[in-house]
Amino acid sequence: MAIREIRKTPDEVLYKKSREVTDFDERLHTLLDDMADTMYEANGVGLAAVQVGILKRVVVIDVGDGIMELINPVIIETKDSQTGTEGCLSFPGQWGIVTRPNYVKVKALDRFGNEQILEGRELLARAFCHEIEHLDGHAFVEKVERFVDPDAE
Ligand code: ZN
Repeated sequence: MAIREIRKTPDEVLYKKSREVTDFDERLHTLLDDMADTMYEANGVGLAAVQVGILKRVVVIDVGDGIMELINPVIIETKDSQTGTEGCLSFPGQWGIVTRPNYVKVKALDRFGNEQILEGRELLARAFCHEIEHLDGHAFVEKVERFVDPDAE
């Protein structure tokens, strides 16, 4: 377990597309463990592998209910909408209002390659959308309706 360096804008790796994971081996498990350590150390609720410079479709999320590991995640259903403040460990100090679905269903694999169906509402739905976007080289700033100062609101 180790803390990895979080890549920050304008690091160009953040804008690259990540590749599907095909090997569910020790190397993947180490990456997942390190990503969790890195996310917790940074007080984040989600982290995509690209944010530590690894172009693999791997995401970790913890919105307060324990660690979730998503390999090759795909959004298969969305419902309703929510509008709220969002930030990103790769865009320090930038916060903005983003509208997202309020319910998101995701199909993903676990660290052993088993398929899992995950459902999220509110913050978890937001985290699914935010992290999965990272895997295609996109970031929340593209969707911001207006930037805000969270300390002033
Ligand atoms: Zn992010």
